[in-house]
Amino acid sequence: MFCRECGSEIRKNVKFCPKCEVTPLSGTKHCQACGATTKSKQNLCKKCGAQLIKKEAVSKEDAPKAAKLASLFMPVVGLVLFFVWHKKKPQLADSVCNWSILGLIGGMILYAIGLASGVFGSLFGF
Ligand SMILES: [Zn+2]
Ligand SMILES: [Zn+2]
Repeated sequence: MFCRECGSEIRKNVKFCPKCEVTPLSGTKHCQACGATTKSKQNLCKKCGAQLIKKEAVSKEDAPKAAKLASLFMPVVGLVLFFVWHKKKPQLADSVCNWSILGLIGGMILYAIGLASGVFGSLFGF
């Protein structure tokens, strides 16, 4: 068969194309049966008539919404989840980590606004 990404001839059922290193069937540029160039939305190969196979590359795992929201409002939760997940589910851990950082930044901004309004309040006697 041929790599759908780069069109080079490859062994059947290989996980990654040795030439371009992507999942061979995740590409859309070549026919997997004859290697002819194809367009991304094309379903049949114009040259050999083969049904073009489109397989998604390994999909990215994402953390559940509840976990993200919890990390956003309580960065400590994100930290705990990060340590629970970082070995088994690194992608989930990364995601909650980002959300808790966002939560931390948001918290700091709120704190700064509070501080500033407090300072201005005492300066101008609000
Ligand atoms: Zn390739
Ligand atoms: Zn073809």
